[in-house]
Amino acid sequence: MTNHPMPIRTRFLSPADVATILQRQGLAQTLRGMHDEIHADYLRWQDFDKNARVGNHSPVGVIELMPIADDTIYTFKCVNGHPGNTRFGLPTVMAFGVMSRVDTGVPEFLSELTLTTAVRTAAMSALAARALARPDSRTMALIGNGAQSDFQALAFHHLLGIDEIRLFDTDPRATDKLVANLRSTGIRLLRCASVAEAVQAADIVTTVTADKTNATIITPDMVEPGMFFNAVGGDCPGKTELHADVLRGADVFVEYEPQTRIEGELQQMPADFAVTELWKVLQGREAGRTDAQQVTVFDSVGFALEDFSALRYMRSCAQQLGVGQDLALIPNFADAKDLFGLVDALALPPARRRAATVFDEALA
Ligand code: NAD
Repeated sequence: MTNHPMPIRTRFLSPADVATILQRQGLAQTLRGMHDEIHADYLRWQDFDKNARVGNHSPVGVIELMPIADDTIYTFKCVNGHPGNTRFGLPTVMAFGVMSRVDTGVPEFLSELTLTTAVRTAAMSALAARALARPDSRTMALIGNGAQSDFQALAFHHLLGIDEIRLFDTDPRATDKLVANLRSTGIRLLRCASVAEAVQAADIVTTVTADKTNATIITPDMVEPGMFFNAVGGDCPGKTELHADVLRGADVFVEYEPQTRIEGELQQMPADFAVTELWKVLQGREAGRTDAQQVTVFDSVGFALEDFSALRYMRSCAQQLGVGQDLALIPNFADAKDLFGLVDALALPPARRRAATVFDEALA
């Protein structure tokens, strides 16, 4: 019989804990820290055991599992995408994730990833933009002004120096929300009446719309030499945002090609359509932007590596700020082979059991 030397504890971060971290550190610093963590992990791309994520689809959405590991840490994120959810007062995207030790499998960290995904996606967009956008870019069109958009705007402002953002959403209330949230940031915000008006004169175009359809939000007539397209919203089969000719006229960069071929804008293109994985650009093996006239596209779908970085970064912020709480998610064993014995050992005493039942009934 071997006792585990320490009680097994799993650190838990709730949405309130993550919001506390964002407030205490400030969003600019958090975006920068997240960007640096993701960048460092892309620079050691070869260290990771990678898979395309596994999606379970229904007519109204998808639930996806995103696992990845290096030699010491395994993480997964569970995330959904349900564009119709806002009709029920639910967000389109909700997520949580776990980090476990590779040597024992102990899950050491469990976190909300709804807020965290917005920060990581925005930081990832900025990382791609630093390699693929013109360095003198100052104006961005932001098409789709929902839950992710505020974070996108702030990442481009703080990490790339974007100071003018041209907004469009089919739902004017989404734009109202975005304008209100960004009012004290110093970013110049221009409300536009159409996608074409928003894209006109923009150096960078971020599309972050949600609709389970093959949309053509960006058409070839809107493309100007030198533009960078950060296509974030098309991230699962049957869901795209760019016309295929926009891709044909550009150099296209992806996170993990096997996944993007199925889920990204690339799903519209033949299997031999050439793309470059971004890690090769970041490691200096392939060129990113080569001249001021080139049109570049980041066909973003969200890759497990970014959630690995995000979980590790948020865990380290939580440790530094003393945020979060410990959960007894895994039982502590007197005899690791006697799982059955735990049923009696761990069951609540009758009085607490009754209290729990009353509580459950009150909630029901
Ligand atoms: P959301 O539902 O909060 O916002 C989406 C917005 O898009 C809505 O305000 C909607 O009115 C608008 N919209 C829909 N069709 C439009 C159109 N044709 N033109 C202009 N606006 C339009 O969703 P969200 O959480 O902001 O996510 C947006 C998208 O980004 C989703 O598809 C989501 O799956 C995707 N996403 C991708 C990543 C990634 O890593 N690539 C990460 C997170 C979310």
